[in-house]
Amino acid sequence: MSEKENKQRFYLTTPIYYVNDVPHIGHAYTTIACDALARWHRMRGDDTRFLTGTDEHGQKIQSAAEKRGMTPIQLCDEVVTNYKKLWEVLDISNDDFIRTTEERHIHVTRYFFQKLMESGDIYMGTYEGWYCTPCETYFPDAQVGDDKICPDCKRPLTRMSEESYFFRLSKYQDALIEHYEAHPDAIMPRSRYNEVMSFIRSGLQDLSVSRTTLKWGIPVPGNDRHTVYVWLDALINYISAVGYPEKGEKWETCWPNVRHMVGKDIIRFHSVIWPAVLMAMGLNPPVRVFAHGWWTVEGDKMSKSKGNVVNPFEMADIYGVDAFRYFVLREVPFGNDGDFSELALVNRVNSDLANDMGNLLNRTLQMIEKYRDGKLPPSSVFDRSSDIDSALRNLAVSTLADMDARMDDFSLDGALKALWTLIGAGNKYIDETQPWKLGKDDPDERLDIVLLTLWEVLRFVAMLVHPFIPNTAARIHAQLGLAGNPSEERYPDWNWGKLTGEVMVKKGEVLFPRIDIPKWKIGYDARMKARQVALDPAADKEASAAFDAEHKPQIEIDDFSKLEIRVAKIESVESVEKAKKLYKLNLDLGFERRVIVSSIREFFTPEDLIGKKILVLCNLKPAKFRGIESNGMLLAAEADDGTGEIISLATVDDSFPPGAPVH
Ligand SMILES: [Zn+2]
Repeated sequence: MSEKENKQRFYLTTPIYYVNDVPHIGHAYTTIACDALARWHRMRGDDTRFLTGTDEHGQKIQSAAEKRGMTPIQLCDEVVTNYKKLWEVLDISNDDFIRTTEERHIHVTRYFFQKLMESGDIYMGTYEGWYCTPCETYFPDAQVGDDKICPDCKRPLTRMSEESYFFRLSKYQDALIEHYEAHPDAIMPRSRYNEVMSFIRSGLQDLSVSRTTLKWGIPVPGNDRHTVYVWLDALINYISAVGYPEKGEKWETCWPNVRHMVGKDIIRFHSVIWPAVLMAMGLNPPVRVFAHGWWTVEGDKMSKSKGNVVNPFEMADIYGVDAFRYFVLREVPFGNDGDFSELALVNRVNSDLANDMGNLLNRTLQMIEKYRDGKLPPSSVFDRSSDIDSALRNLAVSTLADMDARMDDFSLDGALKALWTLIGAGNKYIDETQPWKLGKDDPDERLDIVLLTLWEVLRFVAMLVHPFIPNTAARIHAQLGLAGNPSEERYPDWNWGKLTGEVMVKKGEVLFPRIDIPKWKIGYDARMKARQVALDPAADKEASAAFDAEHKPQIEIDDFSKLEIRVAKIESVESVEKAKKLYKLNLDLGFERRVIVSSIREFFTPEDLIGKKILVLCNLKPAKFRGIESNGMLLAAEADDGTGEIISLATVDDSFPPGAPVH
């Protein structure tokens, strides 16, 4: 089956998220991408279904619930709301939300297991291997080194042996290879396809699919001592949510056309184990598994201990949902890894949303209001369009086709680039046709054509941008004087110049006010500092001591003479672990070596500092930062240059020897 033959039916799933996790940018990214794809397919009139949900079984849930004095299901019921709230905030249009603790899922999982036992594809055996309790995973001997630590989480492994049911994964090796050779688009992007193929070709082993150690799970039919392996349980959600095994209408529409979106870390579960299980059940494997990349944050790996986990609630609150949605979909070629930076987001808002798109709308509506009292000219004026008008019309129509082709390949960023080419052409058209001159000298037809052409471009923009930033699309739609919501549009009906009847535009609030970067930077720095202080109170104490800029009362010469200030040479510089702002400086004071800890790391590289002759207050009482004793303080000037804090160290000529006193 090719993509084109299935055009009218589209069933898309996110992975189900681990219910006890705090939702972060990774969850938001997958779900926003799926939302844009689902909205696109609805708009083109496809029979569309979009599923997300939560994975609620496993040892970690059980332990977390015990710690909080709750039952596992009480914990699940409480924390599942974190996801449900986030999807509401982010305008996610999922048709269903499945939880693996629901009866509709449990009975299907047991049905799968029962059928596979009957067919002999699941059999009883003994499993022995290195087991990681937190990861709930056995690792084959080949993957475990001499240190016997978990290859994933690096915690100690336990040698375990247990009675276990196995799925005959090895039996499906050839069928999987054959399937993927015939369907090279079934795993995307291509790099993932190659990775999975070489994994399958390296040889598949039967998979343990039950546990006797786990209580919070789905019991194996006919043997309550075992629960179903959580990964098998989780994968079955895609099928239990669409009415298997009764196979009603929903099933018929969805299952033959199922596509899974996943992060690249779970590609093998979805493109090796899951299709093999489906084949064993006599069901079609997924039409496509697409693995997207991961986000770093400001160039750093995201982690709780670094305090740099991007909170999508916070981003939506500060920048607005659509700015956040637009940024994550546009910034990175879909399928690649990307870097999240708030400054990059602000720049996108200013250039793409405020400038390109916002200006096209504002300029057009202003002119329609100024020259035509807000009333749109009739479509009949298009009969006398000139080449420049037709060229823009043709671009609008071909942009739709172009974006459609890119969305078929899940190239979300590519689709947005194509749309912004149209927006750019719209702005250029204004510059070239100079409607303000027409307005003055030629009050009739030529101006009508230009204004209506621009209005039609914006109508296309509102519809084409809807899957990505639905709220903004609706605002453009309303300002253009159109009734209803772009989500109700079906693009076979989008004929250019189809308009009949009177339309009055209603210029409204600016879509995206320009963000003033120096002002933004002050707020941003304050948030980062608060985050840093929460993580590292010592950094704050030193920072505020060093940068206290208030005026002070007059002092006597004797007060000053209490300070012992000397020239010191910076010999070497070390970063202090887990303290982003701190350096440990090793100094030569002439008469002795000194260590000073200073929060200047964000301003200087070690190369900037090594060899410099600086001024140091030597007789300051020692203080400890991050367990390192600091003896003294270096002198520096501090200022704000409008983009943030800058500092300059007090230095002396290179000819001065270390230890020279300062009076
Ligand atoms: Zn582990």
